Amino acid sequence: MFHPFHGLAIQNILWACHLTAVNSAGQKMASSDECRLCWCKDLDDLEDEDKHIAAGNAGHLCFPCNCRAPVHVRCLSEWHQSRWWQLLEQGFNFDEAHARIDTCEVCGARWMTRGRPKPLAAWALCRARGGTGKVALRRFPTLSRATRNFSDYAAANGQRLELLEQDVTGEFFRVRLAPAAFYQGEGSSAIAEGWIRHVYLEFESETVAARLPTPTMPPAYT
Ligand SMILES: [Zn+2]
Ligand SMILES: [Zn+2]
Repeated sequence: MFHPFHGLAIQNILWACHLTAVNSAGQKMASSDECRLCWCKDLDDLEDEDKHIAAGNAGHLCFPCNCRAPVHVRCLSEWHQSRWWQLLEQGFNFDEAHARIDTCEVCGARWMTRGRPKPLAAWALCRARGGTGKVALRRFPTLSRATRNFSDYAAANGQRLELLEQDVTGEFFRVRLAPAAFYQGEGSSAIAEGWIRHVYLEFESETVAARLPTPTMPPAYT
């Protein structure tokens, strides 16, 4: 199903990402009071003559992820719908498609327009299985093992991880680690964030462990 909003939305999101990169080079700055999808401002801030332009995207600006660019709730909702159908048409399975529309592909946080629930615990230890002693972090909370879903970073066995949030299933945690080792080869980065399955986490409290959902796939499935 073709949706006229779709192409513009994707283009604008990518353009917003581009501007973020440009910012670091000290060049043109993206406005922080414009929706990253429709480029309109909050209705309350517009002159009367401009309100009809933004009427189709009515709503206040919000910050649903950790990115600095805001978005209208309605624009985000429409983007979700169009993105969902696009991903299915491209052959993504339901699990990965859902994870992708639920997560900002720039900062990795879930899209949350009404507050961000705290995870079950503030931290956990990584328990890597297998010979590498590392668990690759994912860009999206999906069971898909496609390369596109993994970041360059990995948590090391025994490393303490800060827990930032859980996905909608509760099976994945978004974590922050410092330092963050590269999954391939040697070396590390000062800090990184990414998603990891709870089967690779060891919690201090047994109460927390008891509240975790049963893994969808066995622990050996990485
Ligand atoms: Zn908008
Ligand atoms: Zn973001």
